[in-house]
Amino acid sequence: MNIHEHQAKALLVRFGAPVAQGHPAFTVDEARKAAEQLPGPLWVVKSQIHAGGRGKGKFKELGPDAKGGVRLAKSVDEVVAHAKEMLGNTLVTHQTGPDGKQVNRLYIEDGADISRELYLSLLVNRESGQVSFVVSTEGGMDIESVADETPEKIHTIDIDPLTGVTDDDANAIADALELGEQARVDMLDLARSLYEAFTAKDMSMLEINPLIVMDNGRLRVLDAKLSFDGNALFRHEDVRELRDMSEEDDKEIEASKYDLAYIALDGNIGCMVNGAGLAMATMDIIKLYGGEPANFLDVGGGASKEKVTAAFKIITADKNVQGILVNIFGGIMRCDVIAEGVVAAVKEVGLKVPLVVRLEGTNVDKGKKILNESGLDITSADDLDDAAKKITDAVKKG
Ligand code: GDP
Ligand code: MG
Repeated sequence: MNIHEHQAKALLVRFGAPVAQGHPAFTVDEARKAAEQLPGPLWVVKSQIHAGGRGKGKFKELGPDAKGGVRLAKSVDEVVAHAKEMLGNTLVTHQTGPDGKQVNRLYIEDGADISRELYLSLLVNRESGQVSFVVSTEGGMDIESVADETPEKIHTIDIDPLTGVTDDDANAIADALELGEQARVDMLDLARSLYEAFTAKDMSMLEINPLIVMDNGRLRVLDAKLSFDGNALFRHEDVRELRDMSEEDDKEIEASKYDLAYIALDGNIGCMVNGAGLAMATMDIIKLYGGEPANFLDVGGGASKEKVTAAFKIITADKNVQGILVNIFGGIMRCDVIAEGVVAAVKEVGLKVPLVVRLEGTNVDKGKKILNESGLDITSADDLDDAAKKITDAVKKG
């Protein structure tokens, strides 16, 4: 689960991280009030969407010459003018995809004088099995390009879970970031605060881009992006409350109600599969035959007919879907339950696109019988390869 920048900053402050004063605003009026509560002479008006690259982003409605989604202002009136332009409009950044995201809230912040922009993140490092700091002097830029073009400028510092952040760790981070005296002292506290926040709240990623050195030599968190481990959310009510459904895909919200592992993708072949590994393999083989999956969906091991019905409805509700592939290997999952779910869903919502079904395993004959006797126009497939070929062909023809 992701949260907004202003929420992330409010959370990090509780752990002692240095951030600017600021207030969220949902209306132009609130933006004015927020700006009036800040000292000036510089304000920052920041679009709150769950995507990065806002500064360089463009508003769909405003044309190519308009300013981006993070803007500086020199007066309260200027803040208001920006707020009017930004609220309700659609911001497109390299992370939002071409559709962009509607800006429904702003964060009005006290502006900082920036001397240097640095990069700092924390993540769960699968190679070392530890939480790692990833830092670079190249802040404020797209870190993926830094990793591509100048990988030597990215430094990783693993943290021993038994000791937490030691002075040596903090110094290693400070060295990598080429920090001056005061910033080095600040880093001792900051690294500990961030590590504490990361572990206490079960984050999967914490990214500060940029972390800045201000003109006075001190560190400040200028941007903050936090992701939380969904499987640990049950023990963090304060984090759950920060969820903004308007930022999430409707189909994914619906799927989460039924406890389905569903992720929307850009393609046109809807997939209903059991088991994450088989789901990945199914997506791979669809791509091998030149198709593009519209989703990842693992209905799980012991899915009920209701769950399968819900899953099928979510897939058919996606207007990009031009064909559906059901690929089930019934181990714990029974093929007849899948068949019943598919038939029930089609009866409710109809079937306007080709459907290819490959069933194998427990109760496969019963499952096939249910499908055959349903009167539905279903193409059956013998194995995964055959199934992928048939659905990609059907979609190409359609
Ligand atoms: P992002 O584009 O979504 O990553 O949004 P950021 O919060 O990182 O802001 C983008 C850029 O705006 C930063 O890299 C800074 O260059 C600039 N910016 C943001 N806040 C301030 C500020 O307080 N003062 C100044 N001078 N620039 C800022
Ligand atoms: Mg940023």
